[in-house]
Amino acid sequence: MSLLDRRTLLIAGGAAAAATLAGCSDAKDTGGTPSPSPTSTPTATTAPTSTGTPTSSTPSTSAPAPTSTAPNWNRLARSLEGLLYLPSTSGYAAAHQLFDPRWDTVRPAAVVKAAKPSDVEQAITFARDNKLVLVPKSGGHSYVGASTIANGLQLDVGGLKSMSYANGVLTVGAGARLYDVHAFLDRYGRSLPTGTCPTVGVAGLTLGGGLGVHTRTYGLTCDRVVSMGVVTADGTSRTVSATSEPDLFWALRGSGGGNLGVVTSFQFTTIPATELGFFRLTWPEAQAAAVVRGWQQFAQSAPTTVWANLHIDAKSNGTLVIRVLGVSTTGDGTAAAAQLESLVGAKASARTLSVKSHLDAVKYLGGGTTSPRQGFLAGSDVLEGPMDAAAITGLLGAVKAAARAATPASAILDPLGGQAAMQPAGGSSWPWRGALAVIQWYSSAQTKSAQTFVANGHRAVRSFSAGGYVNYVEPGRAVGSYYGASTAKLQAAKTKYDPANFFHAPYTLG
Ligand SMILES: Cc1cc2nc3c(=O)[nH]c(=O)nc-3n(C[C@H](O)[C@H](O)[C@H](O)COP(=O)(O)OP(=O)(O)OC[C@H]3O[C@@H](n4cnc5c(N)ncnc54)[C@H](O)[C@@H]3O)c2cc1C
Repeated sequence: MSLLDRRTLLIAGGAAAAATLAGCSDAKDTGGTPSPSPTSTPTATTAPTSTGTPTSSTPSTSAPAPTSTAPNWNRLARSLEGLLYLPSTSGYAAAHQLFDPRWDTVRPAAVVKAAKPSDVEQAITFARDNKLVLVPKSGGHSYVGASTIANGLQLDVGGLKSMSYANGVLTVGAGARLYDVHAFLDRYGRSLPTGTCPTVGVAGLTLGGGLGVHTRTYGLTCDRVVSMGVVTADGTSRTVSATSEPDLFWALRGSGGGNLGVVTSFQFTTIPATELGFFRLTWPEAQAAAVVRGWQQFAQSAPTTVWANLHIDAKSNGTLVIRVLGVSTTGDGTAAAAQLESLVGAKASARTLSVKSHLDAVKYLGGGTTSPRQGFLAGSDVLEGPMDAAAITGLLGAVKAAARAATPASAILDPLGGQAAMQPAGGSSWPWRGALAVIQWYSSAQTKSAQTFVANGHRAVRSFSAGGYVNYVEPGRAVGSYYGASTAKLQAAKTKYDPANFFHAPYTLG
């Protein structure tokens, strides 16, 4: 998907666009980082009491209360090169934040900011010995707050962000953010297929798949992984690849983070950093059904060099806006825009074509180089094939009902196909190779009405949906619905690498 999608939908159109989109903009991240002063080390030797509880609209993100004796936090602190934050520690409030402020009330017993992979080993061993639930955090953009946990140990790998490049291969720490990866690779004339939001973590994105404008030309982010450094539940560091621990390598590419180990680094094969041709087309609400029909045909027939996603956005005046954002990796989107208009059977009422250099395109799609924290509510469906007229009517009706209720809402349809339909070397657990598209139901509100919109969306496309996209994991949905045909093999990998179910939190396998 691209966040541009969800952001584009909110703009009134025009070129200023990307920088003013909701969700990711060029405003400064307010999340804050701790000062690496000695005061960030623990000051208490006894386990703090976690007083936080999830907000009422949130799913459970709490670990079972620790049993028996209090963890010896000083021992953990001494074993780390990085920092340990307890609730009593200065900087704790900023240290445990995620992208969505909704999770600020979830208070981990402690936060480890890893400085080296050995800190990850230490944290896992400590958590296991003390029967603490441990959740890894990279960029902190989980839709369900899965990278924080009340009463448990949050293991932040954000400090592991070194990067190097040689012979077409990027080696990157699991804590790097997407914009930093692109800015680094741009120096070598290289790029990586990723999502668009500049602050999303490379780890969470890659482990769950990774969809973006290059998906059809080059595949998902996880498809470009050639090896990973990972610490498993036994505290052992492993290097996994198609030839080393191939079942874990398979499982980690597409099943979502937090399930099978803590990844400390990735090696990716890169792609050329070429100019991209953009096209933006808008149609009036009266054409909505025709655009959905035409877009579905386009998603099936467009060249693999073309990616175009469809936004159906609720406007606060009760009407809908229908837009397509297209990208051609050939550098020219003219023919693709014409092909789409022809399939829709109507010229767009507004049409913009442009060409952008690699890094300008990254900034445009990301709305800048960083993004402010933001609350939202979302869910997804994976479309197995084109929707029929009834499902299209239902989909449009779900957004329309939200518009009438003045609820900010969008259905964002990201195409698959092309290279996304191909398995990478060694296969991967990402289960939706044969699907047409991923729909994201997105609202920047966290209200009952937004929940109703997401539920209505699911209901509308139910008979065409194979499941959900794990990177858009949502509350109250069975995790099995994200794994499709990969479920049994994933469970086998879980049993092999995490037999005691150490990585066990509300949204994990097992
Ligand atoms: C604003 C925004 C824009 C987005 N845009 C896109 C997009 O364009 N394309 C797309 O495909 N997705 C997109 N997403 C979804 C995104 O890919 C997922 O939310 C992803 O999981 C976020 O990764 P993270 O590292 O930032 O999050 P985190 O919350 O840190 O991690 C997500 C999950 O992975 C686990 N995890 C984190 N680090 C590790 C690690 N090192 N080892 C093992 N497990 C780990 C966490 O425990 C958690 O379960 C977007 C999300 C947001 C909020």
